[in-house]
Amino acid sequence: MKFKAAVLRKSGLPHPYAASRPLSIETIEVPPPAAGEVIVAIKAASLCHSDLSVVNGDRAWPMPIVPGHEAAGVVAEIGPGVHSVKPGDHVALIFLTQCGECEHCIEGRPSLCARGTQANREGRLLSGGPRLKLDGQTVHHHMGLSAFAEYALVSEKSLVKIPDDLPFVEASLFGCAVMCGAGTALYSTAIRPGQSVAVFGLGGVGLSAVLGAVTAGAARIIAVDPSQGKLDLARSLGATDCIHAGGGKAAEAVRELTRGGVDHAIDASSTLDGFSSAFESTRRGGCTVTTSLTHPSQQFSFSLARIVAEARTIKGSYIGTCVPGRDIPAFIQLYRQGRMPVDKLVTRTLTLEQINEAFDELSDAEEVRQVIVF
Ligand SMILES: [Zn+2]
Ligand SMILES: [Zn+2]
Repeated sequence: MKFKAAVLRKSGLPHPYAASRPLSIETIEVPPPAAGEVIVAIKAASLCHSDLSVVNGDRAWPMPIVPGHEAAGVVAEIGPGVHSVKPGDHVALIFLTQCGECEHCIEGRPSLCARGTQANREGRLLSGGPRLKLDGQTVHHHMGLSAFAEYALVSEKSLVKIPDDLPFVEASLFGCAVMCGAGTALYSTAIRPGQSVAVFGLGGVGLSAVLGAVTAGAARIIAVDPSQGKLDLARSLGATDCIHAGGGKAAEAVRELTRGGVDHAIDASSTLDGFSSAFESTRRGGCTVTTSLTHPSQQFSFSLARIVAEARTIKGSYIGTCVPGRDIPAFIQLYRQGRMPVDKLVTRTLTLEQINEAFDELSDAEEVRQVIVF
């Protein structure tokens, strides 16, 4: 099968991307799906901060590659032995397969799936590959999906079935933003009813964390970001207080508001400063949970004695500690009941051809979620 896809040949080209054009729309070829594989017609794919890290080189991936890891679509074709989906089924794509066999999957923590992580690092599918070709040259899969394309050849284990009447634009958000944000609030942070939480960084993940904190019953939800527009959006989603992140005083402001600090801080800022402010905004005994994937060279140091004597916790959260097959259907139900209005995260829709310009918007943090519609 042949289809159009956004191909990245080289990371680290200069900003603005509208001028350097790191992504080019090319015709990609894929073989028919092998055993355990599925071809999905992509209907909506959104841009996430992690996609920017592919383009700017903060995270190293094998090149060339077709990025895109937050999407929804319709099953077009299935390979031998595929039983979980059939052509015509609507699906959300998930960026780490749940192999079901590795030690992490067996202990119920598919967000750490070892085989899926290895396949992602190598730019191939769980079932093999890489299978994408451009003029006979191998092109790598991004996180087993490569969703900035008209079609995606994926492992059956990269899919979760969704209701047929759920609009694709909203559906696309569940695989990354919603699981990473709401899951972080509900599972990685495990906010209890009545507790206080500060969320640093209000992109798709941070705003979803606000929604997760509302779902968890947090009494006080303090949103922190430099953008007034994003703070207003956070308030409309249930944040009780908003703090402008500029000037380096955000942690102090949170501590003042809460007389000593919050029970939990969630850092979704993708910056060391944001993480540091989140940490400093917690009370003694508080917990800081981060979803920030910064450049691997970035280090954070802290006083070990302070961690012990003040009984502090620092925790990383990947995919919000979610079990996609369990949590995506649950979050969709909450969305449809109006209790998790993820549609408000979508600030712009665009075509695949506008992708370089969209990366400028992402880099300037102007938009929350921009969704490519096919
Ligand atoms: Zn993402
Ligand atoms: Zn696994």
